[in-house]
Formats: sequence, structure tokens, C-alpha cells
Amino acid sequence: MDVVNWATAAEFFPWRHVQQSIESIEWNFRTIWVEFTQKDYPDARPCPKCASLATDLFWLSTSDLEPAWDAGSGRVGFLTLCERCRVQVDFLIDQELTDLQADQWRGCRTLS
Ligand SMILES: [Zn+2]
Repeated sequence: MDVVNWATAAEFFPWRHVQQSIESIEWNFRTIWVEFTQKDYPDARPCPKCASLATDLFWLSTSDLEPAWDAGSGRVGFLTLCERCRVQVDFLIDQELTDLQADQWRGCRTLS
């Protein structure tokens, strides 16, 4: 999937950043990962344009860029994309992963 040329507003993250996250997807366990992740977020939003259910959207894991971690506002979570409408629908924060990443950033300024 190539989102770099999607022309809609980058609601949560720049499209180039989204593309990098897509390229680091672990495809081997994709189906299990998606099912597992979706269960944790029963209130994930449907697509505002076509009303596709959250469970029918494309889910990926991503996090804020370095400046946000320096500013203490970094977040790790799950971004949902509607492939039909080419929009970023929702960003669901994973507080546990965010806290772990914040600790790691304070310790050695690296993102996992
Ligand atoms: Zn849609």
C-alpha cells in the first residue's frame, strides 16, 4: 500500500510518516495482530465519509516523531485508514506503550 500520494488532509500524521509505519508492518502475524488490537478499541470510529466500520479499516501501529518526545507529548498508538476514501480516520493511543516509549526516550533518546 502506498499512501504517500494520498491527497487528503493528514489528519493525525504526515502521509510520509504513515508510509514509513506501513513499511515496518510485520505481515506474518498480521491477521492475529489486527483482531487482537481491535478488541482493545471497541469504540474506534467508523470512516466519517463512507461509514465503513472501524473493523473494516486498515489498522497500523505508529508513534509520534522525535520532536514530540522531546516536548514530552509523544504518543504510541494505532492509526486507522479508510483505503476507499484515502483518509486517516482515528488515532487510538496505547497508554502502556506510550509510557514505555517515554521512559526509553528519557533514557537513551531512541524510538522502538
Ligand atoms: Zn471511507
